[in-house]
Amino acid sequence: MKKAFITGITGQDGSYLAEFLLGKGYEVHGLIRRSSTFNTDRIDHLYKDFHDPQARLYLHYGDLSVSGQLTDMLYDISPDEIYHLGAQSHVRVSFDMPEYTGDVTGLGTLRLLEAIRKTGVKARFYQASSSEMFGAAPPPQHEGTLFQPQSPYAAAKVYAYYVVRNYRDAYKLFACNGILFNHESPRRGETFVTRKITRGATQIKLGLRDKLYLGNLEAKRDWGFAGDYVEAMWLMLQQDKPDDYVIATGETHSVREFAEKVFQKLDLDYHQYVEIDPRYFRPTEVDVLLGDSSKARRLLNWKPRVSFDELVEMMIAADLELAQREKTLTDAGYSCNLNPHLCI
Ligand code: NDP
Ligand code: GDP
Repeated sequence: MKKAFITGITGQDGSYLAEFLLGKGYEVHGLIRRSSTFNTDRIDHLYKDFHDPQARLYLHYGDLSVSGQLTDMLYDISPDEIYHLGAQSHVRVSFDMPEYTGDVTGLGTLRLLEAIRKTGVKARFYQASSSEMFGAAPPPQHEGTLFQPQSPYAAAKVYAYYVVRNYRDAYKLFACNGILFNHESPRRGETFVTRKITRGATQIKLGLRDKLYLGNLEAKRDWGFAGDYVEAMWLMLQQDKPDDYVIATGETHSVREFAEKVFQKLDLDYHQYVEIDPRYFRPTEVDVLLGDSSKARRLLNWKPRVSFDELVEMMIAADLELAQREKTLTDAGYSCNLNPHLCI
């Protein structure tokens, strides 16, 4: 049985990837952070008590800021594949926490690579690189496009990208950068714009709120479905040679278009509910991301399955169900957390 180790297993991508790898018969180990509240919602449906002989998912407490522990963990687990998805992954937050973002998102990758080198485990390594690294570079962006990062997050990811390439060259590690464009799902963090919109609009539809505050509506993104993108991560580690690949749909849409579509599908006019709050603007913005993933399509035989329209509908359906549950609780007189975190 193959063994995989996933950092960031409690995040959006980690949960889809764990599901995917368990489905392929892997034993899956994940790094989780200790938190005062439960942070395993996205993987609870996959977890079996470890006394159960069928259990193939194991969780280990740790943190990307602590190197010795990563080394011990790799030594103990001895994985065949490592998927490094853990990061402070929010661009806007990286302007508020630049040092922390550099430490976890940038140096965290170095710590893990060092742990591989020191333990000598023969694991293949996947790095969650990001289209944000292209930043101000004109579209379409591909593997040869020069990086022009526009945030502390993007700069940290550029550092991690190069350190992965360096370890590949210097120590012959099988290490790949997946340069993934934005990918979303009903499990997307609620402060990313797509999910913020589907959460806000569905709550408005059910009368749970009356306004949605957003920032720059003109930014354009190449949005795909996270479930499709985790398959590309796995495919990269199944090749004969390590390499770097762009993963994208090849379509771009503005935030305005996304919001308009969501409200329209709910029979609402977004002009009536969406307000602009400058606090959501970033000190430097990435205007247009549009990926050219022809290399991955040719060499990995990968392509996205879920269309933009299907993605929007999937997210609306899931959030409508969630809002309905919130409404039932509210109507019954129970207090319900109507998501104060949308403030970022
Ligand atoms: P999420 O923000 O949903 O998940 C991030 C994960 O990292 C969580 O499991 C989080 O744990 C964990 N984490 C954060 N800080 C630490 C730390 N100090 N130590 C250990 N674990 C930590 O991100 P996504 O799933 O959306 O993205 C996965 C990866 O892909 C990230 O590296 C992201 O930057 C990158 N990426 C994402 C894109 C996207 O569109 N989604 C596009 C391109 C790249 P906890 O749950 O405890 O917070
Ligand atoms: P990013 O591409 O990784 O920064 O993903 P986000 O989903 O956080 O942001 C995508 C785009 O939406 C960026 O250009 C943001 O400036 C823009 N945007 C507009 N309003 C908002 C908002 O209220 N929250 C977030 N997160 N982004 C917003």
